Amino acid sequence: TTVPSQVSLTLKQVSFRYPQQPQWALDGISAQITAGEHVAILGRTGCGKSTLLQLLTRAWDPQHGEILLNNRPVSEFDEASLRQAMSVVPQRVHLFSATLRDNLLLAKPDATDADLTVVLQRTGLDKLLEDSGLNSWLGEGGRQLSGGELRRLAIARALLHDAPLMLLDEPTEGLDATTERQILDLLTVVMQEKTVLMVTHRLRGLARFDQIIVMDNGQIIEHGSHADL
Ligand code: ATP
Ligand code: MG
Repeated sequence: TTVPSQVSLTLKQVSFRYPQQPQWALDGISAQITAGEHVAILGRTGCGKSTLLQLLTRAWDPQHGEILLNNRPVSEFDEASLRQAMSVVPQRVHLFSATLRDNLLLAKPDATDADLTVVLQRTGLDKLLEDSGLNSWLGEGGRQLSGGELRRLAIARALLHDAPLMLLDEPTEGLDATTERQILDLLTVVMQEKTVLMVTHRLRGLARFDQIIVMDNGQIIEHGSHADL
């Protein structure tokens, strides 16, 4: 398996509907994303934003159209290389009933405790180390995390994974202004040199994205730079 160091994406007339669903969740989506570009995806609830990210991870395959990663159909990549190529911060972050260490190691199995501690400091999660350090038990039977902590944990995983493509699904949803600011500052650093697709409801900060895609009803209704729109 070869891990690409940079990722470009091409979507050609991609249409997808969930099993047993009559309507198309994505309906003829086309886009060209060059390596290193940052793309914001906007649109009202249910328009297909998360579905689009999930097709890129191959959680689902489209019934029509084609998705290319570095000019090669994603269907030709084996699961391991696709996983190596992308870091995902999902809309609903999953916390395993396990130690803090194991919750992080799934993103980078060979990380040392020192690596993990550095990442926890960078993401502002070092107070999770207070009880039993990296052995602190999270999830069921242990410490639950707040919404902001969960997002930070997902970003910590993405930092460890360090893949060239980042898929971020509303990374600051439901956070207070201060926490949102901190997470966005952190992401600004993490996103450098990477290809990024970020689903967001925030209109502030859009000027920093190279492309803005506005979706409605499974289609792209506006597409361009901040200046264009
Ligand atoms: P939000 O802003 O609320 O997160 P979204 O733009 O991410 O919305 P999606 O989650 O992509 O929207 O959903 C697109 C459409 O597909 C919606 O109509 C939703 O009900 C439907 N849908 C999503 N997941 C499934 C599923 N697993 N099975 C069937 N239908 C689904
Ligand atoms: Mg969504």
